[in-house]
Amino acid sequence: MDEIDVVIAGGGLAGSAAALTAARLGMRTVMLAPEGPMGALAVVEEIEGAPGFENVSGYELCPTLHAQAVDAGTEVRPLAIEAISRAGDRWLVSAGGATIETRSVVAATGTTPARLGVPGEAAFTGRGVSNCASCDGPLFRGMEVVVVGGGDSALQESLTLRSHQVKLTVVQQLAAFTAQESFVTRLLADRTISAMFKSEVVEILGEERVSWVRILDSAAQTTRDVPVAGVFVYVGRDPVTDWLGTLDVLDEDGRVVVDASMASKQRGLFAAGDIRSASPGHATSAMGDGVSAATSAFQYLKTSAD
Ligand SMILES: Cc1cc2nc3c(=O)[nH]c(=O)nc-3n(C[C@H](O)[C@H](O)[C@H](O)COP(=O)(O)OP(=O)(O)OC[C@H]3O[C@@H](n4cnc5c(N)ncnc54)[C@H](O)[C@@H]3O)c2cc1C
Repeated sequence: MDEIDVVIAGGGLAGSAAALTAARLGMRTVMLAPEGPMGALAVVEEIEGAPGFENVSGYELCPTLHAQAVDAGTEVRPLAIEAISRAGDRWLVSAGGATIETRSVVAATGTTPARLGVPGEAAFTGRGVSNCASCDGPLFRGMEVVVVGGGDSALQESLTLRSHQVKLTVVQQLAAFTAQESFVTRLLADRTISAMFKSEVVEILGEERVSWVRILDSAAQTTRDVPVAGVFVYVGRDPVTDWLGTLDVLDEDGRVVVDASMASKQRGLFAAGDIRSASPGHATSAMGDGVSAATSAFQYLKTSAD
């Protein structure tokens, strides 16, 4: 069997775009995608602010791009990457109990939702605590929920919840929202949505399911219990980079430092999408990163073969 030119870790937008590009360049491409064509955008009902995309959902785009990568010749393995190490001019990838030898690696494992870290959050996850408005919104039709956060994801997901007739209050720690203006304007224009600023959810309470949240007014330093059926948490995203731990390629936030060609300081290791340092965190930038990373891996293999 031919040796593997590139292993792409992650089957989100960055990974699929990298796989599509690498396969089209004629590289023997293996994509490790434990969840298939999933990723942060896969559950989003309408992709916003993406140049050239109108009325396209994440659950349409992600499988389409994934299928393009497969059609171009990518081999997909449903395995999670666990670690990588160097062996001469090759990389050894540990995944699912096996070791895969490859000439280059593209890291595209993205991010996972950050947790609030308050009592009750873990216990009620899946029983009222959620990170997905399009998946769980219909279950809360006509009910009261709180959305925690004030950035793009929190406000975009609040608008999705409203489209499912969910009654909601956005609880924001700061004095104002930090989301892009278009989301703020639309959210504030919806008189049915309430907002609490300088406020924090400090505990999630209930018996079988969520029944209340305890909210701290940080100016007054008082708390009150608010009855709700759900808590939607959008307080940032953590990069999935534990498998890169010993390679000294991460910044202080745990993201991979790359140059403009998406190359890390380790030869033959590239990164793309939300996992990389200074990523703008957009769908189109993730895809563009994937294209750049695969093209750079191709150039790297050509140069190292000379
Ligand atoms: C709620 C929400 C709404 C958004 N809305 C928009 C929007 O409207 N417009 C826009 O432009 N952007 C939006 N974004 C941002 C956009 O979704 C991301 O920038 C983009 O999806 C990042 O793609 P990625 O491939 O880098 O990472 P991800 O999409 O996170 O994909 C990472 C992939 O890696 C896989 N993975 C994880 N661990 C491993 C492992 N150990 N081994 C192998 N694979 C692994 C995961 O299963 C996943 O498939 C939104 C994000 C969120 C959270």
